[in-house]
Amino acid sequence: MTGQAVSRRRFLQTLGLAAAGVALPPTPPAARPTTAERPEYFVPLGDYHELPPECYAQNLIRPFEIIVHWDGNRQGRELWLTPITYETLQFTQQSAHFAVDYKRIWQLLPMFRTVVQESYGAKGYNWAAINVELAGTEFDQPGNAPPASEVDLAVRLVARLMEHYAIAPAHVAGHFERDLRGDKRDPGAQFMAGFRTQLVAYRASRSPLKQQALAEPGD
Ligand SMILES: [Zn+2]
Repeated sequence: MTGQAVSRRRFLQTLGLAAAGVALPPTPPAARPTTAERPEYFVPLGDYHELPPECYAQNLIRPFEIIVHWDGNRQGRELWLTPITYETLQFTQQSAHFAVDYKRIWQLLPMFRTVVQESYGAKGYNWAAINVELAGTEFDQPGNAPPASEVDLAVRLVARLMEHYAIAPAHVAGHFERDLRGDKRDPGAQFMAGFRTQLVAYRASRSPLKQQALAEPGD
């Protein structure tokens, strides 16, 4: 997340449109890039909720990183929910490929066999990354860890994405590890360490031989 939300609100206020409740005319979306590849849905179809085109780049990328985030929701744990993640991204005109909460995963962008839509969200890394938002905020604060079921879902999702897009363990990162400006702490250093441990264990339990092969030098 960046300051885009604030600046957009200020922009609307400047125009006096936000207060008047006047809807801005829609900007025609740029032509969507096409690929002959078949779409990939990593969730049941009912959990596919595509963000509007202004939330992502009209470009397809070949991902080699997975970046994990918290969505920054400060409205209380009972609202750590994928529909809220979606609404926040929609409002700020940003995007991630997935939103995860305690009971479900929503896929938010088109994805294909080897390429995915380029998201707006992890500055400087969007060209390379699949972004995964976990509902919540400040996971390293006492009593503020996400529900275990949310972490489980995220671990399984990331493991599946690693396998599908041949992404090495060294290329699964927390946003704070990829923010060169140093102003991103999500999803928390302590949380990310635990997440990695769980991810390694889960992948090992799935297919020990395959994981061993994937862990060969060259990552
Ligand atoms: Zn982030």
